[in-house]
Amino acid sequence: MNFADLGLSDELLRAVTDAGYSEPTPIQQQAIPSVLMNRDLIGIAQTGTGKTAAFVLPMIDILSHGRARALMPRSLILEPTRELAAQVAENFEKYGKHLKLSMALLIGGVSMGDQTKALERGVDVLIATPGRLMDLFQRGKILLSGCSLLVIDEADRMLDMGFIPDIESICEKLPANRQTLLFSATMPAPIKKLADRFLSNPKQVEV
Ligand code: AMP
Repeated sequence: MNFADLGLSDELLRAVTDAGYSEPTPIQQQAIPSVLMNRDLIGIAQTGTGKTAAFVLPMIDILSHGRARALMPRSLILEPTRELAAQVAENFEKYGKHLKLSMALLIGGVSMGDQTKALERGVDVLIATPGRLMDLFQRGKILLSGCSLLVIDEADRMLDMGFIPDIESICEKLPANRQTLLFSATMPAPIKKLADRFLSNPKQVEV
């Protein structure tokens, strides 16, 4: 299978060629067409399988239609650590380079002033760790009601780090008719419960 068979736009196909990828990995083959059709997804995959591109590529495609509004991010990617959040942000820039989407990184250790300025300008994609996101939300610096696409990445690590209550609270603030993608290397019972509660009729892919 080729990247061109997955339904991605020409700008994304060019970015993938620029990145030197010759064919999609199994998780990308299974996930991308379904995400592009706005389905919820559970991806059981380890790091190294190409899972980041499996959600970032179709997200960019979906978000390339429409515009960002102040304080209301259009999509949210939750990561357990600032390092992972920063890596996903790099991927976003690499794959989105032929499109004009705005991104903000909400992680500890970065000045809140810069982060809130970015939010005020409006962002298409917000990449955040749960703690910093909750903090800014409680200060009224961010509205989650316009966020129609959510990615919960590394869900089992979120569990190990005690982030599940924060994630539940964040999910409750997002619109109910959003699209939700959840990735995890393993599916322990609390993650299964989280998925049952916050995803609707998800396609499940496992690599
Ligand atoms: P990830 O599993 O998202 O951490 O990705 C692991 C590595 O695979 C990253 O360095 C990506 O740049 C790379 N990668 C992702 N998709 C592909 C692909 N289709 N072909 C070759 N490398 C890829």
